[in-house]
Amino acid sequence: MGKLWKVLIVAAMLALLPGCCLKHEWAEATCTEPKRCVKCGETEGLSLGHTWRDATCTEPRTCAVCKATQGEPLGHTWVDRTVDAPKTCSVCNATEGEPIKVTEYKFNKLTFSGKNWAIFLDHTIFYVDRGNGCLRFYDLAENEITTIKPEVPEGRGWAFDVYPESYYAGKGKLFAVDYDDAGNCSLLVYDERGTQIASLENVAKVPEGHYISPSTVADNRYLRFYDRKDTQKNAKPVFGLDLETLQIVPTEDMPVARWYDGRQYGACNVIPNSEDKYMLAYSLDYTKMYLVHPVYYSIKAECLDFSGFNELGYALISEDGVNYNLIDRDLNVLGTNVLSGSDADWAGKTIFSIKQGDEYKYYSVE
Ligand SMILES: [Zn+2]
Ligand SMILES: [Zn+2]
Ligand SMILES: [Zn+2]
Repeated sequence: MGKLWKVLIVAAMLALLPGCCLKHEWAEATCTEPKRCVKCGETEGLSLGHTWRDATCTEPRTCAVCKATQGEPLGHTWVDRTVDAPKTCSVCNATEGEPIKVTEYKFNKLTFSGKNWAIFLDHTIFYVDRGNGCLRFYDLAENEITTIKPEVPEGRGWAFDVYPESYYAGKGKLFAVDYDDAGNCSLLVYDERGTQIASLENVAKVPEGHYISPSTVADNRYLRFYDRKDTQKNAKPVFGLDLETLQIVPTEDMPVARWYDGRQYGACNVIPNSEDKYMLAYSLDYTKMYLVHPVYYSIKAECLDFSGFNELGYALISEDGVNYNLIDRDLNVLGTNVLSGSDADWAGKTIFSIKQGDEYKYYSVE
C-alpha cells in the first residue's frame, strides 16, 4: 500500500471519531441545547435558556422563543357584572355575559291602579284587587283562574300574605286570617292557584282592633303569625303554622328565632333568599329600615326602603326613599339610581314592584 493510501485511511478513521470531524457543521444553540455539530455532536458554549413571558389569565408562563410552557394560566380575576358592565376581568378586561338588565315588565291584560298590586308565584300571578275587595289568581298568560272575595266583619281586617316557593317548600301559598265578631281567628290556606286547601278554626283570639298576619318563616317550615298591633318591643308570635302538615304549632314549640333578641328594633325579618346574611330590621318608630347582622345586630346599611332579594341575589335599596340602588348580597352597589319611586318590593323570582305615581310598576331585573 502506498503512502497516500495510508494517509487517506487515517483521515477516514479520524473522520469517524466523534468530536474530530474535519469541518463541523454547527446547529445554532436553542433554549435547551447548546450550539452543536450535526456531524459529530460536539458542543460549544451553553444553551440559551428560555425567554420566559409571565403567565396571563389564559396562558401559562410561556417561552417567547420556543413556546415551551410552565405551570397553568392564572385564570381571570372576575368582577361581578353591574348595570353598566358585564362580568369583567380586572386584569385583562375580558368580559363574559351581559350587564344586569333592568327592564319594565309589560303585562298583556292586567292593569294596576291605586293600591292594586301583584306578585308572581311559580306558575301563577296573585293579584290584589283592592278596588273590588278581592284577591285574584291568574295564570302567567294573565287568564283569570279564580277570585276570592273575603267577607270581612265590621272593624276587622282580612290579613293575608302570599309566599312563593322560593321562600319555603310548604304546601300553602296564600295564608289569610279571618275573624268572627268576638275576635276569634280562623286561618285559611290556599295553594298557588287559589284553591282552598285548609281551614283552621279558632287558632287565636285577638283584642278589638288588632289583627294578625304572617311574618317570618323559621327553618323553612314554620310560619309565624304576629299581632300587628303588637309588633313593638317584646313582640312574640301569636301562633305558628307547620307548612308541611298545615297544623298549628304552639309558638313555644317552634324553633327559637335568633331575632327575638333584636329588641332595639321595631321588628326584624330574615330576608328570604338572603342566606341569612343580613336581616331586615325596622327602627322602633318604623320610619327607617336597616340591614343588620343576624347575630350581633350591627347595622350594615340604613335605608328608608328596601325590597327583598331576588333569585339572583339582587335587591333594591333606597337611602332617600325615592332613588333606588341595586345591591347584591354583600351590599355592593351594582347600579346607582336604577329606579325611582317608593315602596319597592319583591314581586317574583326576578321581578320587583315599585310605586310610581299612583300605581305599581313592575321591573324585571336579571
Ligand atoms: Zn463536528
Ligand atoms: Zn424556549
Ligand atoms: Zn383576565
